Amino acid sequence: MITANSDTIIALATPTGSGAIAVIRLSGPEAISITNRVFKGKDLSKQATHTIHFGTIRDGETILDEVLVSLFVAPQSYTKENVVEISTHGSMYIIESIIKLMVRNGARAAKPGEFTLRAFLNGGLDLSQAEAVADLIASNSAASHQVALQQMRGGFSNELKQLREQLINFASLIELELDFSEEDVEFANRDQLKQLILTITNVIHKLIRSFEQGNVMKNGVPAVIAGKPNVGKSTLLNALLNEERAIVSDIAGTTRDTIEDELTIGGVLFRFIDTAGIRQTEDLIEAKGVERTLEKMKQAKLIIYLVDPLQNLQDINKQVEELSELQIPTVIVVNKSDLLSPQQQIELAMLDPLYISAKNNLGIEELKGEILRKVNLHSINTDDVLVTNVRHLEALQRTQDSLEKVLYGIDNPVTSDFLAMDIKQALYYLGEITGTVTTDDLLDNIFSKFCIGK
Ligand code: GDP
Repeated sequence: MITANSDTIIALATPTGSGAIAVIRLSGPEAISITNRVFKGKDLSKQATHTIHFGTIRDGETILDEVLVSLFVAPQSYTKENVVEISTHGSMYIIESIIKLMVRNGARAAKPGEFTLRAFLNGGLDLSQAEAVADLIASNSAASHQVALQQMRGGFSNELKQLREQLINFASLIELELDFSEEDVEFANRDQLKQLILTITNVIHKLIRSFEQGNVMKNGVPAVIAGKPNVGKSTLLNALLNEERAIVSDIAGTTRDTIEDELTIGGVLFRFIDTAGIRQTEDLIEAKGVERTLEKMKQAKLIIYLVDPLQNLQDINKQVEELSELQIPTVIVVNKSDLLSPQQQIELAMLDPLYISAKNNLGIEELKGEILRKVNLHSINTDDVLVTNVRHLEALQRTQDSLEKVLYGIDNPVTSDFLAMDIKQALYYLGEITGTVTTDDLLDNIFSKFCIGK
């Protein structure tokens, strides 16, 4: 079993590379004493928690840097252990020298996620909150930030903890029945139990259903711009990306190869899946690769179907019909509105399309609004509990299965010991989400995905 360690760990908490400042973090019983040995300034062992101290870090007589040391005395820290954060100048040479010096003085280089693992093991966070820390750091849009923050603050696990406690009460009553099995008594009122199980099933159901939206908010909406060659798909993607490009190129030194395929509208991230492949398909319906293209399109949660005034109406109708069979929200967009004749406009009206000119940047804002409406994310209340994590989803589904067995057990002549077993199973899976029940493999799996210093 993984338990809280008695050693002191150290890692760079800010990104590697040079910067104005860097923060090196230590956690463990010796965090303050190790720092004190190499710090010239006030005696850190005599300072109060949550104080900051200026001084120098010295390797023998050599000054490595002038630093600020922040003290967090156990248990008033992220990990609940003694924590020291050293703000240094952000040179990789200084950072490495200080970490090496600390290691020579008894600290150990931290493993990925080890600070957060300690926070979890010492009761500072539950498991789903710890996972939310990773999500929060990885968040790249207002929506993913919102769900991660909500989960880290415990909204998600609070609901589950309450349900689990109610179920534990029943489990103990049924256990009690087992002790009196010869006397055929029922301590656990079966009607009340059934009512509770139905309530829990409802909540679990709602959480399972929320995954689809939660996942989209966390990972982005997979979307496709489809249409015949030359209708203006690339031009449209560029027009949509324009604003974002400008922002990204303003940040010196940032390069993102995949920028073409990701864009944020109204705080929601959209990911354009393999649009290049789809763009090159000769004709959505007739081309050889139709099957494969359709397969790809099925992964989308949104299709922007682009036509232009040069296409014949029959063709468009046929393709719109084909698309509707995919049952994916689709926005029909007529591009090149600058070339549109009044006659064509009358003909196209029955499709109720959006008119834009990608080249002239006309109608793009309206299109963005329509895209947002189609994915229906604006209806999410920011207080809603959303499941975003596949591990949680799986545990919820298993809980649901166990609860169904309990329900069957209540309605059928099943003995208390079997009922107790099924309730225990449900409790186990619920506990897996918040970390009340853990295994080493599970913890390894979760925390190894963190980066070092988290
Ligand atoms: P794709 O093959 O669907 O990706 O089409 P492109 O984006 O490469 O555009 C094909 C041609 O249509 C290019 O010459 C564009 O300049 C032109 N085009 C795109 N949008 C408009 C528009 O709104 N009006 C006009 N007149 N031409 C456009």
